[in-house]
Amino acid sequence: MDKKRETIARQGQPLASPYDRLTQYMEEKAMRKTPERYEILRVASLAEGIFTIDALMQLMNEHAKFQVSRATLFNTMELFCDAGLVIKHPLAIAAHYEMRTDCNPKAYVICRQCNTIARVSASTARLALQNLHVRYFNIEDKLVYMHGLCRKCQAKNRQEARKKQKQIKQDKIKNGKR
Ligand SMILES: [Zn+2]
Repeated sequence: MDKKRETIARQGQPLASPYDRLTQYMEEKAMRKTPERYEILRVASLAEGIFTIDALMQLMNEHAKFQVSRATLFNTMELFCDAGLVIKHPLAIAAHYEMRTDCNPKAYVICRQCNTIARVSASTARLALQNLHVRYFNIEDKLVYMHGLCRKCQAKNRQEARKKQKQIKQDKIKNGKR
């Protein structure tokens, strides 16, 4: 295990600054330290919570010193994932990302109806996952996804069910009159 992963694996401790981690990663890989990569990292750090490439593109339009293409954003996020700077959520819908600022366990809820993804409180995730260990496996991130229905969709479904019931009743009355 290389040094970078070792530092990442230490749970509960804050990680070094994302800039330092990016620099270290690019030096290790003998990559060019382009200003674009640092600028994308700066702007991505402005995102609150989980974001998509579209949302990041929007942030770049608003805050970046210079614009980059969508393809560059995609490739850079892949690089950030490899560098351990970003968490990529492997969802069926468009890829979602999140800045990786610590190694604490994280839990998410995903709505099967509207596909929204939201983070569960850090304390809940910690409680549920802190004692989870797998033999002979070095866990770098503890991420749990829970699928179900969000509050909005539950309310929407209830409303639609009520409407349907009402319609059935009205139809019965109508048919009875005939
Ligand atoms: Zn929903």
